[in-house]
Amino acid sequence: MSIPFNRPYMTGSELGYIAQAHANGHLAGDGAFTRRCNAWLEATIGARKALLTHSCTAALEMCALLAGLEPDDEVIMPSFTFVSTANAFVLRGAVPVFVDIRGDTLNIDETLVESAITPRTRAICVVHYAGVACEMDAICEIARRYGLIVIEDAAQGVMASYRGRQLGSIGELAALSFHETKNLISGEGGALLVNDARHIERAEIIREKGTNRSLFFRGQVDKYTWVDVGSSYLPGEIIAAFLAAQIEHADDITQRRMALWQRYHDAFAALESQGRLRRPIVPAHCRHNAHMYYLLLADLDERTRFITSLKARDIHPVFHYIPLHSAPAGQRYARTHGSMGVTDATSDRLVRLPLWLPDLDQDAVIGAVEAFFHG
Ligand SMILES: *Cc1c(COP(=O)(O)O)cnc(C)c1O
Repeated sequence: MSIPFNRPYMTGSELGYIAQAHANGHLAGDGAFTRRCNAWLEATIGARKALLTHSCTAALEMCALLAGLEPDDEVIMPSFTFVSTANAFVLRGAVPVFVDIRGDTLNIDETLVESAITPRTRAICVVHYAGVACEMDAICEIARRYGLIVIEDAAQGVMASYRGRQLGSIGELAALSFHETKNLISGEGGALLVNDARHIERAEIIREKGTNRSLFFRGQVDKYTWVDVGSSYLPGEIIAAFLAAQIEHADDITQRRMALWQRYHDAFAALESQGRLRRPIVPAHCRHNAHMYYLLLADLDERTRFITSLKARDIHPVFHYIPLHSAPAGQRYARTHGSMGVTDATSDRLVRLPLWLPDLDQDAVIGAVEAFFHG
């Protein structure tokens, strides 16, 4: 039987909640289900304000607008990430400045950030790769000293934490994803998290097409009108209803994913001690969320043979990312600061294994990996 890389997990309550949204007769955004999801995010993550968006990409675009970026302003970020991390800022005319990643967590190397700062630097956008936190204490300290905004791309980080603080609650602004490949899903979906209260009112306005509609509905103004730039970033209630079903099971989903992750981790310990591969590294002060299980192989050639070998058994591991600095748009719109050596090497060597609920045949995957190395 074919083992895909990802299969979206349904809790069983989704259709019932969608039927309720349908019966409520409120299908546009910001109805009862959206409010329920926002309140859950605020309570669970500890964000000052949570606003559902139609994607993490949309939430990142809102971050770029809220940061007040102007053309040629610079945003320091890793190159080893999804395109949206950079695109959101490029859309404002800002320039992503890529620094290399750490060899252990594959997160932005915090020791390289300060030397990348110029008079044009406005923000640092960190990406918590695989739900393992970046070194936020060091990064926030640099940001404070230079007056920079810290934005967390926490697309992969829901239900993970750094020194006891939930990812998404640490930077001034953060973005979550509920894309069907993430831990909690609504097909497409995301959220903006605002931790600095000064951004809350403007975030609501930007999300509502640049109008003060949210203030109007709370009775804080007597008519609503166009007051700022903005766009339509809110999801409809059908999407929020789907997500409401997922968040009720957030602990259960995370625990079950953790069990799968740990099973892989235990299974590949021997291969690692034989020097055949490297497993993920999670620092003791980071609690991850089992978003992803990856292996680092020797080089591009071995990884290509590995993927071919598993595909021959109808198991579908995948690699990523083409580093943004080497992509055509990255070369046009961004620049690098220093060596991208770890980023480039990781991009060639990394492979992600299938990790999904509820009935992944993990024995088949583990057997195929062992067969590749021993067969
Ligand atoms: C998935 C992902 C995104 C984009 O999320 P969408 O909800 O699909 O827009 C952005 N950044 C990272 C690091 C991601 O993994």
